[in-house]
Amino acid sequence: MVERAVSFTCTGCGAPLQIKAQGSTQVVACSHCGSVLDAQDPRHQVLSQYKANYTIEPTIPLGRRGTFRDGTFEVVGYLRRRTRYYGADYDWAEYLLWNPYKGFRWLIEAGGHWTFLSTLPNPPLETLS
Ligand SMILES: [Zn+2]
Repeated sequence: MVERAVSFTCTGCGAPLQIKAQGSTQVVACSHCGSVLDAQDPRHQVLSQYKANYTIEPTIPLGRRGTFRDGTFEVVGYLRRRTRYYGADYDWAEYLLWNPYKGFRWLIEAGGHWTFLSTLPNPPLETLS
């Protein structure tokens, strides 16, 4: 697997943007203007506009590279997640990592604990005993 990066300008504001995994990317969000662009469309049309009420700075900035046992990966995405369980809220952060030869991985941070994850190529098979 080798997917090349593609550079272009945001059709919403003209800021420079880059798609790290062209064939695997559906949308690209512009951090400058909040536009969500169609990554599959060569003209990168604006699909929606997002206005944040507040911003959250990830502990690891987008674009930062790090080396793991599995290789060197770049942070290409960030999510803040929350769930409520028996009335208590639990928050965590998910970083989407990318290596053009190895694909995607996830780095999860919850309560100061970090977990490095790989997705399974196929779902596990259920065995009947
Ligand atoms: Zn923009």
